[in-house]
Amino acid sequence: MDGCTSVNFHIVTLFPGLFPGPLAEGVMGRALRQGVFVLCVHNMRDHGAGPHHVVDDAAFGGGPGMVLKAGPLAASVAEARHADGDDGGAADAPVLLLDPQGARLTQGLVDELAQKQDIILVAGRYEGIDERARERVITHEISIGDYVLTGGELPVMVLIEAVARRVPGVLGSKDSGKADSFASGLLQHPHYTRPAVWEGEAVPDILLSGDHARVTQWRREQSLLRTLRRRPDLLSQPQAALSSAEREWLKERGWRPDGAYDRNE
Ligand code: SAM
Repeated sequence: MDGCTSVNFHIVTLFPGLFPGPLAEGVMGRALRQGVFVLCVHNMRDHGAGPHHVVDDAAFGGGPGMVLKAGPLAASVAEARHADGDDGGAADAPVLLLDPQGARLTQGLVDELAQKQDIILVAGRYEGIDERARERVITHEISIGDYVLTGGELPVMVLIEAVARRVPGVLGSKDSGKADSFASGLLQHPHYTRPAVWEGEAVPDILLSGDHARVTQWRREQSLLRTLRRRPDLLSQPQAALSSAEREWLKERGWRPDGAYDRNE
């Protein structure tokens, strides 16, 4: 595709008009306009067969729904591979198919992807893609959750948004996002803002104390407690980076290091 010189995200889709969509708004939109990350959209229809640019066909063996043909998909990925005018970086880019049958998208995977120069993203449609194209051109399959959507474009946007916010320069400060849930290995502490009293409910005193060390300690404890109550499985992951004092503190509150949480304690 013309005009793609420093490509980050190459999107293969049947609906190019859906992009940039919500990625044009807010901090993402600003970063996009500044070229901190780039979207390069490849229309699968351009590689469809015949005067009608056919990209799908009925499934062999019968059944409802159409299947995306291998040829147009492979040709679109090949176009994406050669779209980088700078250094040919897309030649070795991973090719990610968004698919409910793929590996679940996690913050760990997002952080790995944020290290890449180029990522090719394929949005499926209909019943999905011809299995031979899946085996030949797709390097990874990624799901955004155990439910089925009509097309891969929203999952592609979810992935881009998650990855782009980990790219330096997209969020305001270089530390932004570091303390977010999952990035820190835990769920984040609760937040409060003005007014200090809302409908009779006051914010915790400590947040108004001006004592930064105590606020930091309180936030860490809240983060640990929230993770214990909502996602105790995270506490057993190395990313949680618990100190031995914190492990003891959590055990006193019912945590069992096998990942369970005894709510009665
Ligand atoms: N027939 C497929 C199945 O049962 O596994 C579902 C196809 S779905 C209707 C059409 C396309 O939407 C998929 O090819 C994929 O690109 C996208 N999609 C739907 N749900 C998704 C999810 N949870 N995660 C990622 N992509 C999804």
